[in-house]
Amino acid sequence: MPRGRPLRAGILPLVTGELAIRLRGVVKRYGAITAVDGLDLDVPEGTCVGLLGPNGAGKSTTMRMLTAQTIADEGELEVLGHRLPGDSKAARAQSGVVPQLDNLDVTLTVEQNLRVFTYLYRIGKQDRQAAIERALGVANLRDRRDTRVDRLSGGMRRRLLIARALVHRPRLVLLDEPTVGLDPQVRQELWALIDALRAEGTTILMSTHYIEEAARLADTVLIMAHGRAVASGPPAKLVAEHAGREAVEVYGAPGELASIEAEAIAAGLRTRRTGTSVSLLGVEGANGDTPAGERRPTNLEDVFVLLTGEEIS
Ligand code: ATP
Repeated sequence: MPRGRPLRAGILPLVTGELAIRLRGVVKRYGAITAVDGLDLDVPEGTCVGLLGPNGAGKSTTMRMLTAQTIADEGELEVLGHRLPGDSKAARAQSGVVPQLDNLDVTLTVEQNLRVFTYLYRIGKQDRQAAIERALGVANLRDRRDTRVDRLSGGMRRRLLIARALVHRPRLVLLDEPTVGLDPQVRQELWALIDALRAEGTTILMSTHYIEEAARLADTVLIMAHGRAVASGPPAKLVAEHAGREAVEVYGAPGELASIEAEAIAAGLRTRRTGTSVSLLGVEGANGDTPAGERRPTNLEDVFVLLTGEEIS
């Protein structure tokens, strides 16, 4: 369920329940490849939506269409009530974009990078310094303001990319794979930052292939595969619907696992492989009549593997 969060003072809210992003039947082809294949996506104002999918599912293409870096071949795209690609300038003015690839100016300092964006977003002269200070504060980079970007750690650079996207207090933030390639400590730092943004009511669309990231941060997850939505909903609801409450993880030799799996399927259970084991899902309804193994709660990764047929990190 989208959590009820207060909107920040001074920001005119969209009408409650209005969609910050609305896609209908969106298609994007690259020659013979259909990267996005009839996608519908709703991002309600004030919620965090996670776009989850394996490599090549079409997440980045979708994000690029939302910033009009890529133009859809078919379908309707609306961002903050503005139709794309025609009104993309107006949509961009109220959105913050955190790209997957770091495109900071490495010859400038942290503060100078932010200042450039205060000009690009046409923040009035009298408000510029306050906007920079606020963004530095959100990203916890105040004591690094005079450091040149090429002397920052990878985690600090990511935080600066996010700060840069927030300098004009956007009502919508688009995060493309915000923690890809970062170590677990830095990833957790960024999760805290993104969570704080959610808590203050910023609408967020985040593409990720880290399941845990989507499970922790997103109110609603849309799972994509081959350019299509294969499921969407709050993470807990998706887990309950597709994987039940409990799983049994059974370890064994590959041949053994295959027969355990076949028996479980014949008994009406859903299963997934984890490489070294097979998980039997939704066993809470099986009256204890399941092979011995490790009992665990089901999770979003179970749903992901069931629906996309792929293992991911
Ligand atoms: P990843 O997690 O690997 O970034 P993704 O879900 O973001 O994957 P996309 O990058 O959107 O997926 O790619 C979807 C499909 O479109 C892939 O088959 C990809 O090779 C193809 N594709 C994406 N961009 C282009 C392009 N500019 N030219 C040709 N094909 C492209």
